[in-house]
Amino acid sequence: MTRPFGNNVLQQFLQRLGPGRSSPRKLRLYACARLRCSSKLIRAQASLRAVQLGERLADGQHDPAELRNFRSLWQDVWLALHPDAAVAALQVTEERPWRDLPGGLHLLTEVFGPEQIPDVLPSWRTPAVLSLACAAYDERAPLSGALRRDRLLVLADALLDVGCADAVIQGHLRRKRKHVAGCWCLDRILERC
Ligand SMILES: [Zn+2]
Repeated sequence: MTRPFGNNVLQQFLQRLGPGRSSPRKLRLYACARLRCSSKLIRAQASLRAVQLGERLADGQHDPAELRNFRSLWQDVWLALHPDAAVAALQVTEERPWRDLPGGLHLLTEVFGPEQIPDVLPSWRTPAVLSLACAAYDERAPLSGALRRDRLLVLADALLDVGCADAVIQGHLRRKRKHVAGCWCLDRILERC
């Protein structure tokens, strides 16, 4: 990622992690997760649809025609759909004062990961594990965008069964705080960046 972010907390966080830890997909999913923190925004149907479409855009699962129509119809709520994911992430961070946002640092770590990310061994990526990870990613709560905790616990157990007792991975999947699309741990298992 070579584009400058400006002097804000997002930039500082990513600089601390070092190179290779962000991508347009990660930045867009982070922007969407931040937008979902605004209950006022999410109560507006058009805004919620923009965020949901933004998440599909990040994962390349969007309908181009829907994106074109949405951008022309709802120009005031399309930050999640900004053509440049880095700009979207920066603007979301700047427009919503850092201290006022619930879970600010939590969301950064959730999406971009801790400083040291453990390796996921190829032998852990069994068809069963990958299927459970995909299901956990795809079956998010429509309103909050949160991953289902029961799904993550089943995945953590399945990883244990194939020999993954890594404390960082197990601890992350079992913790109670909100997980979102772009969760570094699921992305690592699914080899998404
Ligand atoms: Zn997570």
